[in-house]
Amino acid sequence: MSEKKFPISPERLEEIIKKHPTPFHIYDEKMIRANIRRLFKAFSWAPSFREHYAVKAAPNPRLLQILREEGAGADCSSLPELLLADAAGMQGEKIMLTSNDTPADEFQKAIELGAVINLDDISHIDYLEKNAGFPSCLSFRYNPGSLIEGNDIIGKPEEAKYGLTREQLFEAYRIALSRGVKRFGLHTMVISNELHADSFINTARLMFNLAVELKNKLGIQLEFVNLGGGIGIPYRPEENEVNIEYVGQGIRQAYEAIIQPAGLDGMAIAMELGRAITGPYGYLVATVLHEKKTFKDYIGLDACMADLMRPAIYGAYHHISIMGKEAAPCDQTYDITGSLCENNDKFAIDRQLPKIDIGDRVILYDTGAHGHAMGFNYNGKLRSAELLLHEDGSIELIRRAETIDDYFATLRYEGSVL
Ligand SMILES: *Cc1c(COP(=O)(O)O)cnc(C)c1O
Repeated sequence: MSEKKFPISPERLEEIIKKHPTPFHIYDEKMIRANIRRLFKAFSWAPSFREHYAVKAAPNPRLLQILREEGAGADCSSLPELLLADAAGMQGEKIMLTSNDTPADEFQKAIELGAVINLDDISHIDYLEKNAGFPSCLSFRYNPGSLIEGNDIIGKPEEAKYGLTREQLFEAYRIALSRGVKRFGLHTMVISNELHADSFINTARLMFNLAVELKNKLGIQLEFVNLGGGIGIPYRPEENEVNIEYVGQGIRQAYEAIIQPAGLDGMAIAMELGRAITGPYGYLVATVLHEKKTFKDYIGLDACMADLMRPAIYGAYHHISIMGKEAAPCDQTYDITGSLCENNDKFAIDRQLPKIDIGDRVILYDTGAHGHAMGFNYNGKLRSAELLLHEDGSIELIRRAETIDDYFATLRYEGSVL
């Protein structure tokens, strides 16, 4: 079971809304810090543990700054993400570029920042060398194909566009060695939103064995193995969180059994968790605008799928509560909708909730990763603000809401009607 509890009282929320109108996402700084500390502690046995927070999960430099203060680096997959990590004070090899179908300017920026570059394909070796040159530390993304099952969100590895096959991987390191690269890492990311702790341990074992093979066949002493992101969170109250201490201990056993006897001790373990770090500590706050009763009972919010897309695109569950009605019986059945002209703009379908009134404040849980980040402007919808809840209860605006001017900005060219 996972407890769903909004960290702000109804009275305090009303004060906040007076200054910052709904909808907005709000992030709980204290809990994010506590959570990443717990991750570092679970891997404190490792000679060196690196968390490169997946910037795409919550691309806000203020959040990145908090994570940097806690020791995290960044995993970037675009030029703007590299710039955000840099702006948040992340430096050098704290930044890792894991992109695919990568354009030259992204590689060039990564080189300029001194980042680790993680190549998605064997053909990118030539492209990188020609367009940007090699970084001090180069990594390759491994796609284990049918050796690993994958899951619903990311699909089967052999259907995934990412990474190199096993044969290509050995060839790629061989080529990079021959071109003078001296420092190497190895990466994979095969699961997404996975709640089974053992799948991470199994992935680690597979990667550790590969690290040993690379040493035996090519003489490469890997500096790190990066196990990617993908640890899930309990979106549903009846689900359980992944026990990170258990994962840490399981990976430790694999490390001691495989890495140490092979003489690779000192090799770092890296991860690129996004969702598991900030996901549970973000909330989308919205207000009920309308109730409509036709074939079903619809509650219309001032938020829409531009603010949170996961229910619409994955059919994902996000827990919902009505402010001040936490103890009321859930004896009504509603579809909770946004205003987009798309019938899948529904945050919940046939959800059992307490009786809802116009003006009620609605809390959508677990929006701290892949929430605001996935927003878009279809239908002229503007994206919401982001707020940070500090430990002392004060609020910081860390992204203002989009304005119509923002939306029109790209339409203002010479001779434009706007
Ligand atoms: C999306 C992504 C992540 C983060 O995934 P989470 O599910 O948020 O942990 C990490 N690495 C890569 C390469 C990704 O594409």
